[in-house]
Amino acid sequence: MSTVAVIGAGITGLTAAFCLKRHGIPVTVYESSERVGGVIRSVRADGYLAEFGPNTILETSPRIKQLVRDSGLESRRLDPAPEASARYVVRYRRPIEMPASPLGFLTTRLFTAKAKLAVLREPFVPRRRDGKEESVAEFVVRRLGREFLDHAIDALVAGIYAGEPSKLSVPQAFPKLGQLEARYGSLIKGQIFGARERKRRGEVAKDRAGKLSFDEGLQVLPDTLRDRLGDAVVLNTEVRALAQTASGWRLALSQRGQELSAEHSAVIYTGTAFRLAQLTLETEASLSLNSFAEIRYPPVASVVLGFRRQDVEHPCQGFGMLIPRVEGFKILGTIFSSSLFPNRAPQGHLTLTSYIGGERYPQLASLPSRELVELTCADLRVLLGVRGAPTFQHTVFYPQAIPQYNVGYGRYREFMGQIENRAPGLFFAGHYRDGISVGDSIVSGCNVAERVQQYLKAVSVSPATAKNWEQKDVDETQPSQRLIGED
Ligand SMILES: Cc1cc2nc3c(=O)[nH]c(=O)nc-3n(C[C@H](O)[C@H](O)[C@H](O)COP(=O)(O)OP(=O)(O)OC[C@H]3O[C@@H](n4cnc5c(N)ncnc54)[C@H](O)[C@@H]3O)c2cc1C
Repeated sequence: MSTVAVIGAGITGLTAAFCLKRHGIPVTVYESSERVGGVIRSVRADGYLAEFGPNTILETSPRIKQLVRDSGLESRRLDPAPEASARYVVRYRRPIEMPASPLGFLTTRLFTAKAKLAVLREPFVPRRRDGKEESVAEFVVRRLGREFLDHAIDALVAGIYAGEPSKLSVPQAFPKLGQLEARYGSLIKGQIFGARERKRRGEVAKDRAGKLSFDEGLQVLPDTLRDRLGDAVVLNTEVRALAQTASGWRLALSQRGQELSAEHSAVIYTGTAFRLAQLTLETEASLSLNSFAEIRYPPVASVVLGFRRQDVEHPCQGFGMLIPRVEGFKILGTIFSSSLFPNRAPQGHLTLTSYIGGERYPQLASLPSRELVELTCADLRVLLGVRGAPTFQHTVFYPQAIPQYNVGYGRYREFMGQIENRAPGLFFAGHYRDGISVGDSIVSGCNVAERVQQYLKAVSVSPATAKNWEQKDVDETQPSQRLIGED
């Protein structure tokens, strides 16, 4: 019987394994750490629930709802409070609510009259036709003007990628933006006319998509998938090498200092790009994974603070606030975590989750926890009128947090496709390939499970297929997403 190895028990690997198991295909998930979830990390302590990685899943694809249903989590699912829809962007050193309607845009203090005029002129800006891969900064300045870049998109990009607009690629990091221009000649026209097409495809625009979490945080999802997979999840086991054999793949494993090996018919890699570069790959075709080490993952520190409600002047009702670089604060932004979902803070208290580092200030992310808390409190004092000491404080440092889909990233994706074709039975999926959000990773996990099923079926009918297997492009996933913002 064909068996599949899944490398990595983040949300991509667990989703892929869960889908395969539901189709009767035996799987083993190898995870090098002692826990499942990857960057998802929810911790309950002192009456607070701290989310250090993602805070919400944006429900952009029906596959997400399906996974929640199939894993039996519908009764534990939480949808954000309706009053938590407001989002703030900092300008003039104050959080200002983002306009939610055309009238709101015309009257908001977030942008000057000049910036508003530039946005109104956007439908008349000619589309770019020379095929150049633009950075987000180039694209936004060309279509919407400098102020929109500095006071909105810069903050959004920090909130989504912890990234830098002058480096991130439009077609790689925000493909829908480029597609809107190519197709409709304008982002504004595209927003209006694209709605119909999304409806046809069963998709939801990111600004309309529902968000979700669970009673005990996002960690509930990977934990539940692990429970459903049972013995198939093997923790504390790092995959070090992959060798192609006559019947499939041999994995070299390191488990608590012991060297082991395992045979599988197919392998799905769902780890990080920088650890992919460390894997030894032995195949008939000579292929090196070294170049994946070039993919940049800037460091990010998550700082979760609790305060007494009366010690915070701002109502903190809403999703959170994004902070552009030009405003001169150290934090990239803050999620109003306890206004999103119930039971995130004890009665009379609130939880604020802030992020430090990213491409903007990489050197700050690795500061000692005490300094991270001090920096964050100093910013929150000015921005939200926070007084007094936090009643809860906890930080987590992600030394390599989020892959940057910078200009030129397409070559890595192409290379993954080439490897899959030249080393049949090896598959790549997850945040470094199919989009950086949790939702993207879930869709990526579902899609790769389908691709593996097709492969195993083809090979079982004719083993020779393995030799000239050509992957079909599956492009249901769309890169996106977010620490705090949404594209
Ligand atoms: C601070 C932060 C905030 C974020 N906020 C949001 C948000 O609000 N919304 C959102 O949608 N997204 C957010 N994201 C992004 C999102 O959480 C991730 O992109 C997504 O969870 C990635 O899942 P994954 O399974 O692809 O990878 P990972 O979670 O990185 O999991 C990969 C797993 O593979 C394991 N592994 C790697 N190599 C090996 C090996 N050789 N052998 C065995 N195991 C291996 C690792 O130990 C790890 O457990 C955030 C990310 C970070 C870091």
